[in-house]
Amino acid sequence: MPELPEVEATRRSFADAIAGARILSVSLGKPLRWPLGCAPQDLVGRRVLQVRRRGKYLLLELSQGLLLLHLGMSGSLRFAPQAPGLPAAGAHEHFDLVTSQGTLRLHDPRRFGAVVAVSGEDDPRARKLLDGLGMEPLDPASFTWARFAAGLQARRAPIKTVLLAGKLVVGVGNIYASEVLFLSRIHPATPACDISTVKARRLFTAIGQVMAQAVELGGTTLRDFSNALGVNGHFQHTAQVYGRAGQACHACSQPIQLLRQGQRSSYYCPRCQKTP
Ligand code: ZN
Repeated sequence: MPELPEVEATRRSFADAIAGARILSVSLGKPLRWPLGCAPQDLVGRRVLQVRRRGKYLLLELSQGLLLLHLGMSGSLRFAPQAPGLPAAGAHEHFDLVTSQGTLRLHDPRRFGAVVAVSGEDDPRARKLLDGLGMEPLDPASFTWARFAAGLQARRAPIKTVLLAGKLVVGVGNIYASEVLFLSRIHPATPACDISTVKARRLFTAIGQVMAQAVELGGTTLRDFSNALGVNGHFQHTAQVYGRAGQACHACSQPIQLLRQGQRSSYYCPRCQKTP
């Protein structure tokens, strides 16, 4: 599933190319997770001013209103800057935004993704989606040690579960959560409130570093993720524990273990990340 680094890598791959473009037409395919919320032709003539991101939502700021775009479980975007642009939409392509500077297309086989038109971030439909999101790990003004430490103290759930929930920090998905816990030597089942200050500090630093590194590497491509220009991510090649069950830990040579937590797999080193 696309996580924050994949969404940010996607944003960076087309944000400059689409800025200032005028919307020429909008076409919809099969229904996505939520309806668009307006007639497609209502968007025609507006300009795309800039593309921002909040959590895993892309915010296309228009000359009037905002388009919120989410990639869901399996979505990816394509941007074709020049004529003749993209071929006719296929069976899994459910949203085309044709602009004076190119076409942005959502490909989403499982259709958990969405494009929602709202009046702005204060629109009740936008607030419903954005209000519960945690701190932005790539934004030092949002992601502070004081708020992070207080957030851990207030939670008794296993730290891996707390990270995946996204209410404390957004976008640290399954791969990234396994990696940051390894780097900070915290067992994934440790209750968040039981983590020592020293380890919590390490975790805070690791989250910032790993998320920034993942964006730099274009995200993670396990099956088919690529950015809006079709470029794959490379973070998976740097993973220390994720997907390495049975292989030797790079720090201590002990075999990496796999732990099921809820529906999710956690990879960890039993020697470097001691049971609480
Ligand atoms: Zn180890």
